Amino acid sequence: MNENQDNLIKDIKESECYCRDCGAIIKKEAEICVHCGIRQSSSHKSYLDDVKKLRSIIIGLIAISGSVVFIMILVWILDEIF
Ligand SMILES: [Zn+2]
Repeated sequence: MNENQDNLIKDIKESECYCRDCGAIIKKEAEICVHCGIRQSSSHKSYLDDVKKLRSIIIGLIAISGSVVFIMILVWILDEIF
């Protein structure tokens, strides 16, 4: 039983991977498993990375504009006092 499983693992090619749902050998670039029709998560990774990058850029911009507004308010308050 274990020997058969080892052979299966060795049989997998560079361009192939296992379906995350049914475990069948499918092409790495395949978006959907031909055996069970489940969409593979690997194809979404780059998209998720882009979303994460975009989100960190937006957060950075908000932080920068927020601190600029804070400094402007601080200068305005100090100008009002003195
Ligand atoms: Zn599958």
